[in-house]
Amino acid sequence: MSSEVAPPFVAGNLALDFINTLFGTGADQHECLEEDASVVEWLCQAGVLTEAVTPPPAGLLQRSRALREEMRRLVISAKDGRAADPDLVNEVLERGHPVERLEWEPEKAAFSKKEERRDLSAESLLQPVVQALVKLLTEENLPLVKECEACDCVLLFHDQTKSHRRRWCSMASCGNRAKALAYRAKRKAK
Ligand SMILES: [Zn+2]
Repeated sequence: MSSEVAPPFVAGNLALDFINTLFGTGADQHECLEEDASVVEWLCQAGVLTEAVTPPPAGLLQRSRALREEMRRLVISAKDGRAADPDLVNEVLERGHPVERLEWEPEKAAFSKKEERRDLSAESLLQPVVQALVKLLTEENLPLVKECEACDCVLLFHDQTKSHRRRWCSMASCGNRAKALAYRAKRKAK
């Protein structure tokens, strides 16, 4: 397993991008979440955390990896119309739920509802990722959640193209590779 790999942000969905932090197959598998701090870094890169949390909450890495595994299982089974246990997702939903407050805003001369992160626990930090998953599983068209068609690529993405014909995690890598393979196969057949 190699380290120091930039996480791919190709899914068009926060939850799927999180699942994609472990990608590739066999000896070519890449792990983007190597330690607690890399989870914080990923959350910052994904834009759901505005400032680094130092030190990161204890157990963040372990929690993240277990959650990621469950999330992948939930997506795959939901696509197949099969049940799967959302234990960890429900735990994060419950323990990391943001706090809602009513606040007076002098500029607007009106009350407004504010949402704030409950604390700096792993569950609070992972809350946006889990919220994105819940939305994906309950509100989106699951056949449009796809796995890249390249045989050695397990990246998931949400196909938001108009034609719904997206087949690759990215055209630059898997798409072009598949095209080149098909071209070579065709030439050989001639
Ligand atoms: Zn791919």
